[in-house]
Amino acid sequence: MPALSLTAPDPTGVRTGSLLGGRTADDYRELLHHVVDDLAERFRTVSSPSVGPDRPLLDDLVGGVDLDGPGIGSRAALDEAGELYAQNAVWFHHPSYLAHLNCPVVLPAVAAEAMLGAINTSVDTYDQSLVATLMERRLVRWTSERIGFAGGDGVFTSGGTQSNLQALLLARHRAEHTSEEGRETLLPRLRVLATEAAHFSVSRSAELLGLAPDAVRTVPVDADGRMDPTALRLLLARLDALGEPVMAVVATAGTTDRGLIDPLDAIADLAAEHGVWLHVDAAYGGGLLVSTTRRHLLDGIERADSVTVDFHKTYFQPVSSSALLVREPADLAAVAHHADYLNPAAEAASAEAEPNQVDKSLQTTRRFDALKLWITLRAVGPEELGGMVDRVCDLATQVRGLLEDDPDLHVLGTTDLSTVVFRFHPAGLEDSRADELQPLIRRILFQSGRAMVARTTIEGTAHLKLTLLNPEATLADIAAVLDLVRATGRGLLAGTRLAAAGEGR
Ligand SMILES: *Cc1c(COP(=O)(O)O)cnc(C)c1O
Repeated sequence: MPALSLTAPDPTGVRTGSLLGGRTADDYRELLHHVVDDLAERFRTVSSPSVGPDRPLLDDLVGGVDLDGPGIGSRAALDEAGELYAQNAVWFHHPSYLAHLNCPVVLPAVAAEAMLGAINTSVDTYDQSLVATLMERRLVRWTSERIGFAGGDGVFTSGGTQSNLQALLLARHRAEHTSEEGRETLLPRLRVLATEAAHFSVSRSAELLGLAPDAVRTVPVDADGRMDPTALRLLLARLDALGEPVMAVVATAGTTDRGLIDPLDAIADLAAEHGVWLHVDAAYGGGLLVSTTRRHLLDGIERADSVTVDFHKTYFQPVSSSALLVREPADLAAVAHHADYLNPAAEAASAEAEPNQVDKSLQTTRRFDALKLWITLRAVGPEELGGMVDRVCDLATQVRGLLEDDPDLHVLGTTDLSTVVFRFHPAGLEDSRADELQPLIRRILFQSGRAMVARTTIEGTAHLKLTLLNPEATLADIAAVLDLVRATGRGLLAGTRLAAAGEGR
């Protein structure tokens, strides 16, 4: 049947046969099977989070590919990319990958990715997506209900960064429409309140939204690192007295570094008292919405004006999958844009108006990422998904227990989720030397490819960090990585060749 070979360039140079369609259905099947067979073998045999090769080697490999020559055919190109990309990838499913907020992905969602990629739906207008729009809307309702919004709305986004930006756009809109002032004088005076641990996308968004460089004011934290409501009260009163309007309070439900959840109810009380927009950034902690044992940690989230949830973090979804949810649908509708060729304003008001998601999104063409969550919920069920979140949180508690009396590794503070912030600091080591060691330890492990941990600075002190998001990782897996950390630190102190190699690179 196929007129064109997938293994060699089409001699005519017209490669229409490579487009997915009726004529190429068999080629599609063959090609996808080929990719899946290759990847399945890699998953079967991957023995470390990465092969840890040198940057110059990767640069050479990437630079050595001829992107301007004639096509080599789909199969050869895929094999080539397998050797280049898959071979040198970072594998988030590996139990020694403990660095960032990346999760291993559930199988049904991976299969869903293949489905939505092939069909290539764009959920911008209803006439491009039909049932996909209705499915996304149903999931927005599902998430809203989990949050506790009585009649919320929202939209899927590319990630927490975009969700936070959109949330603050809505907050700015509210601030502008409740003020008598014109934009020119109001914008530079608007303030956003968040703790130092809030995600950097909050200050980036403030900048993008035209606020002053110092618009984001830091709310002090309590001894554990959660927003201090008393400090928030004082700051709100002070800004009131100064006549500086507060556009939004951003509470973080699961800080990126420490997995701490700001006291949502107390913050909601103050936001309500001052008539300030409350955004809850639950990019990380949103997984608790399906936990049967920890859902109470999010109590008060239902009082937010807007909420960010990253399904590609604690719902084990492939990148990208996130959503912005709002309590009042009108808040989202207020910033809709209408284009005559997509979603004309005249039709929007009519009874037969088509439900166009583009009205609600910062994106126009947009992936049907909701399908992954849909299939996951049907395949796995929310309860089991919540159990997976609980498992990684429990694992973090166990790891902390493990390190309680460790002479070399010292845990910092507490968590509400699944991170472990710690420091290699044997007795007698100077603080300044310990500060130097933490990033070096990370670097050496990263270069080896055997294990991946993150580094961070908390209150001016260098630390290492584990982000546990693999419910199948065992305590023994994590203990083995901690042994590597310890050995690397000890090696550095002893000035071994390992240390020299790590510092030299
Ligand atoms: C990860 C994270 C973000 C950013 O989300 P992306 O999906 O990476 O864009 C925002 N806020 C918090 C608290 C996060 O942990």
